[in-house]
Formats: sequence, structure tokens, C-alpha cells
Amino acid sequence: MPKAESTWEVRVGLAAKDFYLGGWESALTGVRDQILPAFTGESVAVFEEQLIRAGCPGRDASQVTAPFRCQRCGATTGFRRRGRRSRQLRTRLGRLELQVAMVGCRCGHRFAPLLAALGVEPHARCAPGLARRALELCTELPYRKVAQTLQREAGATLSERSLRRLVRRAATSRWRCGAATAPAGAPPPICSWSVRPSVGAGRRWCRRCAAPPRRRLR
Ligand SMILES: [Zn+2]
Repeated sequence: MPKAESTWEVRVGLAAKDFYLGGWESALTGVRDQILPAFTGESVAVFEEQLIRAGCPGRDASQVTAPFRCQRCGATTGFRRRGRRSRQLRTRLGRLELQVAMVGCRCGHRFAPLLAALGVEPHARCAPGLARRALELCTELPYRKVAQTLQREAGATLSERSLRRLVRRAATSRWRCGAATAPAGAPPPICSWSVRPSVGAGRRWCRRCAAPPRRRLR
């Protein structure tokens, strides 16, 4: 099993007049918002190096099966390193500024294996955990408040337009309810019924997970 470790020494100091720590929560939240993205980016980079090394071994590239596959032709061998590309990713840990390693396939396709390993779709700017949290909030709150809540909770947010797009996608068939069949340990998917554009006549809950319909698309 690939394992990536990185160690950080973090020192946090508290100082106050008259021993009164007014505003300590917001001060430490600011520290968290700075530290977590940097820490996460570093850990992910260590993991990525192992991933790329396993899939692009150099001369023997055609003999070694990579732990990832080409998203265009499905090949699992013959990859070569093709530099790095800046990538910004909004996550529940804040906004990550990544320099993702690109690999080239023999079919000519270039892609970043790290993104697939993180469960991020090729052109998505949002990590799956943040998308899931956004969808949960979208079933309860207006988009503007969802954007504000995400910023406060995660230190990263999505625009109202992006939230609307996310909800529309969640309501399509590829996001069908998998709550009843989600593998153990995986975060349960958001039931598309709760973000469904319209509710069928006579039906008031999802047939698979019994989630109530809570939001209509705007
Ligand atoms: Zn390919």
C-alpha cells in the first residue's frame, strides 16, 4: 500500500492583555485556514511523487502497469512524465494551490493522475468532500448563504453560479441515489431526490434511501 508521510512542526502562540483572550476563536481559525491547505498540499505532493514514480518508471515504462489509466484510451502502460501544471482546488480544508505532475500517454493524451486519485474530475475545481457539503447545504439554504457558510466552515467556497451548476448535475441520472449501496467507509452520496427538479405525483420520498425531496432547482 502506498504511504506518504510528511512531518511539520507548528507553533502557535497566544498573547493577551490582562489575561483576557478575546477573539481567540477567530484568531485560531485564521491560523487553521493558513496551515491546513499548506499542510495538505505538502502531504499530497509526497503521495503524488510515489504515484508518478510507480506509473512512469523511465525506460521500462511499457513493461510496468501503472496504478492509473489513461482517461482517453484506457492504457495502463507506457506513460512518461510531462512536466507540471498549476491547479487550484477548493476543498473542505481550504483552497489548495497545487503543482500537479502531468503524464503523457502514447495516444497523445496528457493528464494528471493525482486528480483521479483524489476523486477529482479532470476539469473540476472542487474536491468531492466540498461538493458533497455544498449539496447538503443546498438542500436547506439559498445559494448565497451556502457560499457564505462554506467560506466560514472550510475557508473556501463556490460561487452561486457554480453551486447552481453542482445542484443541476446532482439532479441528473449519473448522481442517482447510491445511499443504499455505498461501500463501507465511503461517504454516502447525496441522494439526487433531495435536489430533484420536480417531485413526481404521489411520491414524497426517495425509493432507495427514503430521503425526502427538499429542494427544487431555481
Ligand atoms: Zn491514452
